[in-house]
Amino acid sequence: MSEVVLRVENLKKSFGSVQVLRGVSFEVKRGETKVILGPSGTGKSTLLACINRLVEPDSGRVFLENEEITPKNVHRMRQKIGFVFQDFNLFNHLTALDNVRIGPMKVQKIPKEEATQIALEQLRKVGLLDKANHYPSQLSGGQKQRVAIARALAMRPKVILFDEPTSALDPELIGEVLSVMMDLAKEGMTMVVVTHELGFARNVASEILFMEDGVILERGAPDEFFSNPKTERAKQFLKKLSELYGEKPR
Ligand code: ADP
Ligand code: MG
Repeated sequence: MSEVVLRVENLKKSFGSVQVLRGVSFEVKRGETKVILGPSGTGKSTLLACINRLVEPDSGRVFLENEEITPKNVHRMRQKIGFVFQDFNLFNHLTALDNVRIGPMKVQKIPKEEATQIALEQLRKVGLLDKANHYPSQLSGGQKQRVAIARALAMRPKVILFDEPTSALDPELIGEVLSVMMDLAKEGMTMVVVTHELGFARNVASEILFMEDGVILERGAPDEFFSNPKTERAKQFLKKLSELYGEKPR
């Protein structure tokens, strides 16, 4: 059995009187891609943000390679967790190369020349070596998101969390980002992906976690989940998504 990289135990979080996470637990083994599906407002982003304490959970525990993430060690632990957001979060005043090498240089104190090599290697990997000196304003949405993925990779993370990485993209740009993510999964990167892309979920996920109202309502292998969802909520959700995006999971 491969080793557990990320373990989430009974996470709970309320905003005011609204309980957004009501006890979420799962684990991700090395090389797995967990895909989190679920309607909007069900706590998916809050869950990812609680993992590296961008949002402080009320209770529950998170372990990365068997070390618990705590308020005390979170700065060190965050370096090992890549995060790719819907809206890229690039520094607009920095080139693609600088966006990718700033983490290794400033956070990991890697010398500039070595950080540059790491950054160029990751830009090559996402197909953007020729855009290294471009600023975000000179890049398409798909290219910006690929820079964001290269930036996450440059830190040599143990796991990468993706929060709807293609939701802000024009339809014709989604494919290039999904294809980079698919390659990462194939190479054995450990990933947690919140997405509405059912094709990706079906083809790439090791397991689907279906979230509804702050809990994981249903989980299972993608084939099983898509062909035979057990809960009425999951059935309705899949039906709605296919109507919305006209996408049938293959
Ligand atoms: P999802 O990503 O599944 O769409 P979110 O985790 O973003 O869901 O949000 C879940 C619920 O928590 C929503 O009702 C949202 O309005 C609420 N929420 C999220 N972040 C905050 C916050 N910082 N303050 C108050 N409410 C929040
Ligand atoms: Mg969200």
